[in-house]
Amino acid sequence: MAQANNAADGRRPETYDVIVVGGGPAGATAASELSRAGRSVLLLDRAGRIKPCGGAVPPRLIRDFAIPHHLLKARITKARMIAPSDRGVDMPIEGGYVGMVDRCEFDEWLRERAANDGAVRRTGSFETFERDADGVATIAYRPGPAPGGRDLQRARAKLVIAADGARSQVAKQAGIPNAERVPCVFAYHEIVASPKEQGESFESDRCDVYYQGKLSPDFYAWVFPHGDSTSVGVGSANKGFSLRGAVSALRATTGMAGNETIRREGAPIPLKPLKRWDNRRDVIAAGDAAGIVAPASGEGIYYAMLGGQLAAQAAERTLVTGNVKELAGARKRFMREHGRVFWILGIMQKFWYSSDRRRERFVSICRDPDVQYLTWQAYMEKKLVKARPGAHLRIFLKDMAHLLRVVSP
Ligand SMILES: Cc1cc2nc3c(=O)[nH]c(=O)nc-3n(C[C@H](O)[C@H](O)[C@H](O)COP(=O)(O)OP(=O)(O)OC[C@H]3O[C@@H](n4cnc5c(N)ncnc54)[C@H](O)[C@@H]3O)c2cc1C
Repeated sequence: MAQANNAADGRRPETYDVIVVGGGPAGATAASELSRAGRSVLLLDRAGRIKPCGGAVPPRLIRDFAIPHHLLKARITKARMIAPSDRGVDMPIEGGYVGMVDRCEFDEWLRERAANDGAVRRTGSFETFERDADGVATIAYRPGPAPGGRDLQRARAKLVIAADGARSQVAKQAGIPNAERVPCVFAYHEIVASPKEQGESFESDRCDVYYQGKLSPDFYAWVFPHGDSTSVGVGSANKGFSLRGAVSALRATTGMAGNETIRREGAPIPLKPLKRWDNRRDVIAAGDAAGIVAPASGEGIYYAMLGGQLAAQAAERTLVTGNVKELAGARKRFMREHGRVFWILGIMQKFWYSSDRRRERFVSICRDPDVQYLTWQAYMEKKLVKARPGAHLRIFLKDMAHLLRVVSP
């Protein structure tokens, strides 16, 4: 493990190569990556709150980030898309599965991996971003699990990674433009005890996605099984819409109204990558702090881990070369690989989620085997695959037919 430079008199702040604020998937991955490269890293995370999340992760994540299978609480083999008319379309996954993780266990495992890789782990709440007399980035944080108590402590570093989630305080205070103004959907879910019986309304290896204006006027609602518990949730950017009311309506229609409620929680999901992820000096944002969650689906765990990895690699190059322009490389590499998909998903969300008539059509398009194949490949492998010959054209013509109302839903 690379040693932090601790002041002998105990008054000067500890000094690291990199401080990572936030120990979610983005921060923990960044801390692992830099520690493995031999850097001294402080990983600061506040304790006491499990990240509200449906916990669905694609095989690409499990593979790329070496996630052990014991962290998967369930393996999902199909999705059911449910239209405003209650008509359901099943989308089986051919020869694969979507993993479901429990964020309490998953995030802690990632943080422990970072510590085993050499990062110094600290529990505490970031409060302010400052500069010392030499202009070195310094963070002030309140140590310990409870917010409020204990005296502020400080640590300084050549670089700071802001991985403290959506509307990042670190990114905002360090001067990354619009960090706190990123457009968000607000998502709320209830973790309930899973139904004992399997049936039409619930299967333990099936994710249900509700495209119904009454449950969400601009996003979707879901039922995601995790073994003994199930996440029943909904997202919307519409401030006047009752997310709690929608979840209780969904629990009632799925027969889960009486199931034990384990937790109720919500959080914003950013749906637009920031235009700049770094402050052109010494701070770079990663994951939700950089706004990288896929529009239309709200999938963020894979992108957070990739974002953490890319931020760490950009930080490493900056430390090696001394050129802060290297920090901008993280966003460039991310957008080169995923910018097109984010753009397409953004258009899909705006168009298909805007009325029940369109949602009805969207779900009926999902019946198409070519659409199912392309969707699963894009989700599972994070690649736009080549479709069977003529499939793109067929899908395009079908889309047009639906849009022009030549065919009925
Ligand atoms: C209800 C809901 C359901 C979702 N479902 C899915 C899903 O099924 N699949 C999927 O891929 N994505 C899902 N997402 C999105 C996903 O959860 C996020 O995109 C992902 O967690 C982002 O990871 P991150 O590390 O960037 O941020 P976070 O996971 O938010 O982690 C931020 C970390 O920073 C720490 N932190 C924050 N402030 C401070 C501070 N002041 N001091 C110290 N530490 C701090 C927090 O403790 C936390 O550990 C969902 C989101 C929501 C809200």
